[in-house]
Amino acid sequence: MARINLHRRGLMLVLSSPSGAGKTTLSRSLLASEPDLAMSVSATTRPMRPGEVEGRDYFFISEAEFIARRDRHEFLEHAQVFGNYYGTPANMVEQALNNSRDVLFDIDWQGTQQLKARAREDLVSVFILPPSRSELHERLTGRAQDSAEIVAARMAKASDEMSHWPEYDYLVVNEDVDTAHAQLRAILTAERLRRERQTDLPEFVKQLQAGG
Ligand code: 5GP
Repeated sequence: MARINLHRRGLMLVLSSPSGAGKTTLSRSLLASEPDLAMSVSATTRPMRPGEVEGRDYFFISEAEFIARRDRHEFLEHAQVFGNYYGTPANMVEQALNNSRDVLFDIDWQGTQQLKARAREDLVSVFILPPSRSELHERLTGRAQDSAEIVAARMAKASDEMSHWPEYDYLVVNEDVDTAHAQLRAILTAERLRRERQTDLPEFVKQLQAGG
């Protein structure tokens, strides 16, 4: 029997959360288990942290370069977060979507709003919450890469960031990383099956009805 391989349109999966909710870990595990999912690597003006890799975690660029690229409209969305600029380069995203691949974005609520305005039908947005405030604090201090001052600022910012949860399609509470990972995969699986994304469906059903 011939294998059915229906063509579908790629989707844009956005993950947002306050810093320290475990989003980076979840993004990595999702990418590892989903071969058709590609990461959108952002450009940023913030300094590289220990362990980060140019081109994998971010493209680390100067403020002058960021502004030049922004003014040339090379970013799909961009925002200022904690005093640094962040932006999503458009070229890779468009290429991936055209090749029926899904794209994963680790961006904040400002970027999500911009993507929603540009491409609502292609967007699936998920907000990740930490299980408790104490857990959030522990995760932020456990990271040990940022100064106490930055941690305190991020705790304060977390409340702000979390106030945007109603703008998202899905909410995942990351109490247990395996459960959260399974929930993200379930969201992705269901969203891939949406009728509107299965572009070959009309023709496929027509053939079924014709008995062919
Ligand atoms: P961090 O500096 O800790 O890697 O990221 C800080 C925040 O910036 C996170 O909430 C992250 O999701 C967000 N962020 C990272 N890249 C982008 C981007 O390209 N656009 C927007 N809008 N936010 C981003």
